[in-house]
Amino acid sequence: MSGRARTYLDHNASAPLEEEARVAMIEALGTAGNPSSVHAEGRRGRALVEEARDVVAQLVGAPAGGLTFTSGASEAIAAAVLGWRGEGAAVVSAIEHPAVHAAATRRGRGVQVAACDRQGVVAGVSLSRAVERAMEENAGPPLVALMAANNETGVIQPVGPAVREVRRIAPEAFVLCDATQACGRMAVDMAALDVDAVVISGHKLGGPMGTGALVVRQARGDEIDALVPGGGQERGRRGGTENVPAIAGFAAAAELARRRLGTGWTARATTMRDALERRLAGTIGGLGIAGQGAERLCNTSCMILAGARAETVVIALDLAGVSIGAGAACSSGKVGGSHVLEAMGLGGDAARGAIRVSSGPATETQELERFAEALEKVMVRMSVRAKSLA
Ligand code: PLP
Repeated sequence: MSGRARTYLDHNASAPLEEEARVAMIEALGTAGNPSSVHAEGRRGRALVEEARDVVAQLVGAPAGGLTFTSGASEAIAAAVLGWRGEGAAVVSAIEHPAVHAAATRRGRGVQVAACDRQGVVAGVSLSRAVERAMEENAGPPLVALMAANNETGVIQPVGPAVREVRRIAPEAFVLCDATQACGRMAVDMAALDVDAVVISGHKLGGPMGTGALVVRQARGDEIDALVPGGGQERGRRGGTENVPAIAGFAAAAELARRRLGTGWTARATTMRDALERRLAGTIGGLGIAGQGAERLCNTSCMILAGARAETVVIALDLAGVSIGAGAACSSGKVGGSHVLEAMGLGGDAARGAIRVSSGPATETQELERFAEALEKVMVRMSVRAKSLA
């Protein structure tokens, strides 16, 4: 590699650690004891955890009392879905993260899937029909999962209006909103959305990997059994000594993310993203953008490169110093089928050529230009090669 700085455009996979988070973690590593201990070091650990609880809860406009720290969004999802005591079936949108689909299946009380439209939007009517089907199967109020914004396409979901429709049919439904990708990139207000639980991930907003939170509406907190039983930590909601340094780093990043929302970076990111898409539409034949007609997160673009293989493009860009994601990458890094693109009617060949470009608050126009130039070159090389093989 030359000494040229790399361009990192895969924030939806993991955002770079913020300096404030790094500093907070190092400080906590040196000063905090076990938060359950009564001595000074323990009290310092407890204070860090409780301050962090306040700060992270503010990110979703919730009181701190309902927030449980977890090892990430996946654990928070499992804690809500598997821990909810209700007996109804699960209703999950077709575009939920695999952690939601897998937990709903494991729960074993029946699963109904709510379809999205071709733009990747799950309308209230789709969700409420799935709720009706769930209640025919199993009369109890269902567990309903609708994410705030999708990780592959960035498409923002109409959570508030959809929940209103659900509650007309099933007022006691337990509604879970996975806000992993939305937090820090748009305002998320748990009360305004009228959801019962929200999931947050630390590393998507500049905190350390392996941190997350489940925030449950206080009135419904008693309906969740602890997924990890133990020594009474997290008010009995999650056993195990808290990861104090990571929690401190998570809070520092959450605080920064909340403050940044007021600085206009999201409008700037949207403008940069839209300009990038316009440029590439003019230079790459047959370029498609998944969910382009819907409201999307400011930082995300899921590009469909006709006739290309996403993994080949990702590797070629990596060699050029640019990091992006494959639209349909699963956690192992392999490119599999995308259930999200499939649900949008973009499966098969389209999904094989889907790449995901996701920026962050510090991303600059020149970085998107560097990506665009590199992608244009890769596409020319690939089409020359395809012609020479024909
Ligand atoms: N939910 C969504 C929407 C995600 O994008 C991700 C990660 O990509 C997860 C959940 C899982 O997050 P974590 O890595 O914190 O377990």
